[in-house]
Amino acid sequence: MKEKLEQIKTSALDVLKSAADIDALEEARIRFLGKKGELTAVLKGMGQLSAEERPKIGALANEIRSSIENHIDTKKSELAAKLEEAKLKAEVIDVTMPGKVQHTGELHPLTKVMNNIKNTFIGMGFEIAEGPDVELDYYNFEALNIPPNHPARDTQDTFYINDNTVLRTQTSGIQIRVMEKTKPPIRIIAPGKVYRSDALDATHSPVFHQIEGLVVDKGVTMADLKGTIETFLKELYGESTKVRFRPHHFPFTEPSAEADISCFSCGGKGCSMCKGEGWIEILGCGMVHPKVLANCGIDPEVYSGFAFGMGLERVAMGKYDINDIRLFFENDLRFLGQF
Ligand SMILES: [Zn+2]
Repeated sequence: MKEKLEQIKTSALDVLKSAADIDALEEARIRFLGKKGELTAVLKGMGQLSAEERPKIGALANEIRSSIENHIDTKKSELAAKLEEAKLKAEVIDVTMPGKVQHTGELHPLTKVMNNIKNTFIGMGFEIAEGPDVELDYYNFEALNIPPNHPARDTQDTFYINDNTVLRTQTSGIQIRVMEKTKPPIRIIAPGKVYRSDALDATHSPVFHQIEGLVVDKGVTMADLKGTIETFLKELYGESTKVRFRPHHFPFTEPSAEADISCFSCGGKGCSMCKGEGWIEILGCGMVHPKVLANCGIDPEVYSGFAFGMGLERVAMGKYDINDIRLFFENDLRFLGQF
């Protein structure tokens, strides 16, 4: 019996030594110390022992039981510590690892240039005005001194909704709406989409953006126009930019001019960007035609004003050296992410 007990002890300690987890320990406890366990089975045979042997074997059995229990406890805390260590290792954060960059998106290049232009004019005391994209013929043409059958209508291929409603071909109609409702002094810029039935190519799009500007007050002169435009263009393209004005014709301004800037690509020496001329045409402008002021109920004998208009895409293409207008509308993130 004594031998049997010693055998149980040896095999129990072996099993415990190789137990890999808490489940294996519990299995071993049941196998050796449980109600139907090996040690219990041996003790059940104690009745056959002599009175002399019984206490000795009993003491030995108790000793073996507590030895096995001790081993189980020790192993249990060992396994728990190992588990804790593995868990900590898995959860550890290496603060020296580079972060994961979250792509947050960014402003469209046209929006950036538009904001830039707006801020420049707001800094000069201008306000932002808006008008409808679907516009009456009257505001888009007639009030701007472009009556029916006027040749200027042919230069703007117009989308007609019906006989007297159009998709606006220019933001100039907003000037009229503002002048009808506002007593001078007026200082506004009017940014917005305009529509022309042009075929899409590298420099034309049936939808593009214009920014219209208007100043009306007593004693406004061509010198105010030139100063404002020059300040704006230098702000946008850099202080070293040269600006020149060429006489031009628009029905709604008199006199009219086009403003050119020295080429941002070659600085004026001549290159493919400026077609060898050293200058790039950037906007149209002029003194508001007296007839237009009168159309809006502003007395041209008392007030004068100037207006200007430019295409946002053209400005952005120049600023960022982009050679195809279609890139703005294709929404290719590889392109849009460069600005
Ligand atoms: Zn050039």
